[in-house]
Amino acid sequence: MSNFVFPPAEIPSAAVRGTDARYAVGRIFCVGRNYADHAREMGADPTREPPFYFTKPASALTPSGSTVPYPTETKNYHYEMELVLVIGAPIFKVTPEAAKAAIWGYAAGLDMTRRDLQAAAKAGGKPWDTAKGFDQSAILSDITRVSQTGLLEKGAITLSVNGVEKQHGDLADMIWNQAEIVSNLSHLYHLHPGDLIYTGTPAGVGAVVPGDVLVGRIEGLGEITLTVGQPE
Ligand code: MN
Repeated sequence: MSNFVFPPAEIPSAAVRGTDARYAVGRIFCVGRNYADHAREMGADPTREPPFYFTKPASALTPSGSTVPYPTETKNYHYEMELVLVIGAPIFKVTPEAAKAAIWGYAAGLDMTRRDLQAAAKAGGKPWDTAKGFDQSAILSDITRVSQTGLLEKGAITLSVNGVEKQHGDLADMIWNQAEIVSNLSHLYHLHPGDLIYTGTPAGVGAVVPGDVLVGRIEGLGEITLTVGQPE
């Protein structure tokens, strides 16, 4: 037993549907601009860019069904509805075919974003951490194993706020598909169980305020919900 001066934080984890086991989360990777219509709404050219990534700390993981306080230091708190890949094998510098075999499960995710801080960071050539990696910014549903869903390479991905649909895309419209993303990321990191990959959001991102209720759905997978609470 190690002798810590403060007790270590609980290991972030997600429930695995149909089991009593949990999936321990070590890292959260996120793909930027992976749907052409969303790249365009953010003022980028969807045809030219190789995939790029940012990360959130595992401590930002927050289960679906939560109420989270409206975050500090923003006036433009946005949702981004995303399919999340759950890695289930150690891989390094692998082909897309081998990468696909390492996808062990899926979850629905919300990449919550301080859009105003992200815009300021972009304008100033500064990092995105405070815009993307803040407390309770990585919302996640339960995980469903690929053995139960099959590969989810097409199907509707939607998000509604207070019952009004705001995002409606199709998983088939990703610029870089799941196998390509996992393969590409495996050339940058040793990937292994514990790694989650948020795969980007379709068009229709927008701001939410205290009291708003978000419901996201992915065809063949399920639902994720989030309520925005009052600021702390
Ligand atoms: Mn995102």
